[in-house]
Amino acid sequence: MTTTLEATPQQAALPGRDDDVVVVNPTTGETVATLAPTSAADLDEAVARAKVAQRTWRSMSGDARSQVLWRWSELIEAHGEELATLDSRCTGKVLRDGLSENKNAARYARWWAGRTDKLFGEQLEDAAGRFSYTIREPLGIFAVVLPWNAPALGSVSRTLPPLGCGNAVIVKPSEFSPLSALRMAELALEAGMPEGLYQVVTGHGAVGAELVEHEGVDGISFTGSVTTGRRVNLAAAAGFKKATLELGGKSPVVVFPDADLDDAALGILIGILMNAGQICAANSRLLVHESIAEEFTAKLIERAARVKVGDPMDPETQVGPVVCQRQYDKVMDFIASAEAEGATVSAGGGRPVHLAEGKGLFIAPTIITGVSADMSVNREEVFGPVLAVGTFSTEEEAVAQANDSEFGLASYIWTSDGARIHRMAEQIEAGVVHANTYLVMDVQLPFGGFKQSGVSNAFGNEAIEACTQVKRITIRTGDGPLPSPWPGV
Ligand code: NAD
Repeated sequence: MTTTLEATPQQAALPGRDDDVVVVNPTTGETVATLAPTSAADLDEAVARAKVAQRTWRSMSGDARSQVLWRWSELIEAHGEELATLDSRCTGKVLRDGLSENKNAARYARWWAGRTDKLFGEQLEDAAGRFSYTIREPLGIFAVVLPWNAPALGSVSRTLPPLGCGNAVIVKPSEFSPLSALRMAELALEAGMPEGLYQVVTGHGAVGAELVEHEGVDGISFTGSVTTGRRVNLAAAAGFKKATLELGGKSPVVVFPDADLDDAALGILIGILMNAGQICAANSRLLVHESIAEEFTAKLIERAARVKVGDPMDPETQVGPVVCQRQYDKVMDFIASAEAEGATVSAGGGRPVHLAEGKGLFIAPTIITGVSADMSVNREEVFGPVLAVGTFSTEEEAVAQANDSEFGLASYIWTSDGARIHRMAEQIEAGVVHANTYLVMDVQLPFGGFKQSGVSNAFGNEAIEACTQVKRITIRTGDGPLPSPWPGV
């Protein structure tokens, strides 16, 4: 387990506070945009503007806030293609996936439009002559720090819980994908949000650090790696700020012989190859029952060969490139170390043959068999299209192997035995358990990690806790003299 906060040599080599953000298209290698980082003075001004905007937003009726969020959802839907194109150019996201993510983003906004006017406190049980109740209040200003793997969707799904609860947000998108969040801020203004309620700052990690540490910031929503999440958590603790941390994963998928093996193979390939494997909840660790391991792996390999890897703007494409050269090299290092540790690369392992000569950062769907518990490809988050395959013999062993990880984000079980699903779901150490499906994420469904995969919950009603504070109010209603423990005073 890593607990040190010393910068690694790779981190020390990363761009600094005042470096421009240069966005490079991973498909073509062309520069898409160069943005100056937000200065410390501009950040102070953004916080000051957010403070004013938050007061206005909070004083609006629930119905008025609801109408603004609904209008935002319409604008997101209307601009879905434009936003998806920006994300495709910055990150290599397959355009078709971006379009469906943005439809989903609009749905998130509609859900919060219906939720923002239904934030209730409680009337409490209390003694005779006293009346007590709670009200839920927004925290104030939220720092929302985002990764690059679902930029437009993240700039909506992660800002809605704080906004819906009456907070202002200052968004720090990833240095790899800042453009859709900047556009989203314009749409928020157009939808009727008070000026300053939804702002975006740009820069590398140091700007994110300044934002979360800013004394005017009251709450934090961070989505990203465990290493950065640990730093953010320390900053949150130092400032006594509530923080929702949505971090990395190494999610297990367990396949039993009684499963529908065709469905399981398809579901697992979608689960590990969607977005070129750059999904926090990707089912990256396959545990397959030893009696079907050979047959099932062959099925996976045969189907993986049919997946269309290529230009993300092509409507036929299913898997695009990975986001940047550093990510490409990291994935290749994992594949090389798995081989060096004795595993077998049974499919993929490098550039797809048909794209061998091009520029894009493409990696063929990769299946590594003979993986054992201690290999780095089995323990660490690869964040690429790489499936690590191991085997088990009993249900108990499957649970033990699934839980043998520092992470605890999602998990997946494929079986036709309903009682087994329930038994395993109770024992698996993960924030989400799926049975007979690939990843499901939706606005009304809680999503959060156990262990090093995170703290608190990003979606559904659970998110409200992180975005509000509870105030208790007590009123003496008895009309007799004030009850006193001090006779004679
Ligand atoms: P990252 O941690 O490198 O960066 C995330 C964001 O944090 C970026 O905007 C970055 O500029 C900023 N940042 C960097 N240093 C910072 C600091 N000290 N203080 C504040 N902000 C700082 O992560 P990434 O590479 O952009 O994203 C990939 C990671 O995100 C993966 O680990 C993935 O699993 C995780 N992720 C998790 C979820 C989830 O819901 N659990 C969803 C998507 C991605």
